[in-house]
Amino acid sequence: MIVTRFAPSPNGPLHLGHAYSAVVAHDLAREAGGRFLLRIEDIDGARSRPELVDDFRRDLEWLGLEWEEVAAQSARLGSYEVAARRLMADGLLYRCTCTRAEIQALEPRMGPEGLVYPGTCKHKHVDLSRPSALRLDMDAALARTGELFWEDETAGCIAADPRELGDVVLVRKDAPAGYHLAATLDDAADGVTLVTRGADLFFASHIHRVLQELLGLPVPMWHHHALMLEGDGRKLAKSRQSGERGSGWGLTAMREAGEDGRALAERLRIGQMPCGITLSRFPHGSS
Ligand code: GLU
Ligand code: ZN
Repeated sequence: MIVTRFAPSPNGPLHLGHAYSAVVAHDLAREAGGRFLLRIEDIDGARSRPELVDDFRRDLEWLGLEWEEVAAQSARLGSYEVAARRLMADGLLYRCTCTRAEIQALEPRMGPEGLVYPGTCKHKHVDLSRPSALRLDMDAALARTGELFWEDETAGCIAADPRELGDVVLVRKDAPAGYHLAATLDDAADGVTLVTRGADLFFASHIHRVLQELLGLPVPMWHHHALMLEGDGRKLAKSRQSGERGSGWGLTAMREAGEDGRALAERLRIGQMPCGITLSRFPHGSS
């Protein structure tokens, strides 16, 4: 049975790009007689706006979608801790106290997701009185997993190549997990068989494949869908306030203005984007 999910973070209102993402995930499940899940990714306590979650549900309903809601990330913190402890015991994580400014000052190389951490804390005794994150020792991880592959419905069979992203953070300084660890564990716990998300997260899948192997989790298929771009070629993004009232692309604002959500979903299905929006398989600009 195909199980897909839509996994929004309540750190800003949903925009048209989310509508597209939700419709794609919903339809892939429905067409196969499978299940479509909603998971609220609220691991980021400081940036979470719990009042948005009800709007998310209303927005999806307005689009004419039906879903099963599974536990939010804030209700699963224990599972992240257990997994982090296991990776720690396996010698695959190390503490890092570096601040963003300290990392930037080292002028590290740029990877597909921004600056790549240069491994400063890897062989260092860190000052435990400073807040620390836990990073994955990617060389050690890959030495353990050997060569891995993952399957994307549109891009085909991909050799996992997470080295370009460096030693990513698995447990943040300010949260009980980071995105990569939480999302990988949740998808496994929720029985997701087809991970659908925007092409901007394509690179994350390399890391998730490695984590699945290290933690003995089932391996799903992936489907990275095209991104919605504005006329300037940049993708719609919460960090650019694309979902806020007045942006023109916010779902809650459209819904409250009386627009027809089901008709919008139909147009997205046939690839008819609103004026000023294009779809692209590749991300451009910053998120
Ligand atoms: N929570 C992520 C976001 O809102 C999506 C993660 C995913 O689909 O894997 O961007
Ligand atoms: Zn460090």
